[in-house]
Amino acid sequence: MLAHDLAEEIEWLVGWEAAAALDFEALETAVRRQALRFAARVVERRLNADHSDFTGASRPCCCGRPARYVDRRAKPFQSVLGELRLERAYYYCAACQRGFCPRDQQWGMEGTSLSPAVTRMIGTVGVLVSLRGQ
Ligand SMILES: [Zn+2]
Repeated sequence: MLAHDLAEEIEWLVGWEAAAALDFEALETAVRRQALRFAARVVERRLNADHSDFTGASRPCCCGRPARYVDRRAKPFQSVLGELRLERAYYYCAACQRGFCPRDQQWGMEGTSLSPAVTRMIGTVGVLVSLRGQ
């Protein structure tokens, strides 16, 4: 169903103009954007359907005391596919008055809204910029 929607959108973007009249760069940019948006929706849907990060009413906090499950929390993350709105199990520790999402810890996305690939890309750009400045 989703793939059919994407195919229709791409057909619409390409349109029925003669190939000779096409602005090819505008076309490839628009199609790339749509394909990434489509991929982001698929990933988002798949990840939000997976509740395996809920491991019961409580789980140990890093302080050793039990943190209790509160609910699922949604947060926007920047990924190489574009923005993903991910819902994760949220636990709160009353002892250290701190909440955490085990999935963020597992994926290396705790305390950030950037995916690991975006973080790496920003790091690479930062190195290139600092090298150019020398
Ligand atoms: Zn704690």
